[in-house]
Amino acid sequence: MNRKSFLKLGSLGLASFKNITLGLSPSIKPIVVSTWDSGMPVNAAAWTILSVNGSALDAVEAGAMHIENEINCCVGLGGYPDRDGIVTLDACIMDEQSNCGAVAGLEQIKHPVSVARKVMELTPHVILVGDGAQQFALENGFKKEARVLSADAEKAYKEWLQKSEYKPVINIENKTQNGPFAPNFFEDGSANHDTMGLVALDGAGNLSGAVTTSGMAFKLHGRVGDSPIIGAGLFVDNEVGAATSSGVGEEVIRICGTHLVVEFMRQGLSPSQACKRAVERIVHRNPAKAKSLQVGFLALNKKGEYGGWAVQKGFVFSVKSSLENKIYPAKYSL
Ligand code: ASP
Repeated sequence: MNRKSFLKLGSLGLASFKNITLGLSPSIKPIVVSTWDSGMPVNAAAWTILSVNGSALDAVEAGAMHIENEINCCVGLGGYPDRDGIVTLDACIMDEQSNCGAVAGLEQIKHPVSVARKVMELTPHVILVGDGAQQFALENGFKKEARVLSADAEKAYKEWLQKSEYKPVINIENKTQNGPFAPNFFEDGSANHDTMGLVALDGAGNLSGAVTTSGMAFKLHGRVGDSPIIGAGLFVDNEVGAATSSGVGEEVIRICGTHLVVEFMRQGLSPSQACKRAVERIVHRNPAKAKSLQVGFLALNKKGEYGGWAVQKGFVFSVKSSLENKIYPAKYSL
């Protein structure tokens, strides 16, 4: 460590220095962390709000909306369809007061995360699905988009139809080599993924999170994964921390994954150790099955410390604070 970086650390306080020397993430706010390398521009969108003292809730919605706008990306209407060729979207949002809203199986609406927020703010319910979710969106000013597949999704669907096999590929449910986030960052080629989960801590010390996805590619029509399920794909407890997930949603639902991660943090574990313990639940339940699937958890605690853990190699996450703007590979169990 040179003098300049030592002095910089000094200005962050002794706690940060101790964490760095222990190999833990520094504690800082505001901060936003998101799943995968595609989280970099998502974090940038969230940062425009966090950096001017905006709320974590507004920041996570802005981040999720950013990626929902990318027609050639992996999330939102540009995502891969189900086995009937229809793109159905799942999203949720949760704030520091445990208010939450979600939509599942939503069709032809560009910003499912914002519909989820409206469910949270305008209704006494938590989840709206399918036609009812779409009707609610239209009644609240969202526009019905045309039902068209993106060029990448159409190509992949046509290829898939030749065999019609449902087989998620580890780390790559939606591999779009030409998309805006295509630089294969790690040697296993992890690139585009069809779920964006992000959690943020704002300057006031409040946590919020959001998830948006087109779900597993070529799923059965009507299938809902972990992403819109509070406690599975996202959980926020403002006293403790927040967590999100990506990967095979059924495995996350079975263990109430993100709720479990937050409970482990409540017991005193660091974010990465809490994610590790949740991954171990999945692996322990069925070690043979775990070898052929991927689940990654990402967590942020009340102090602004973060960490992730996955079943297999290949899960990465993006971090943005005033200290850093980086992609990290998560550690893994198998
Ligand atoms: N978790 C998502 C789902 O099961 C998929 C993903 O993370 O890629 O729908």
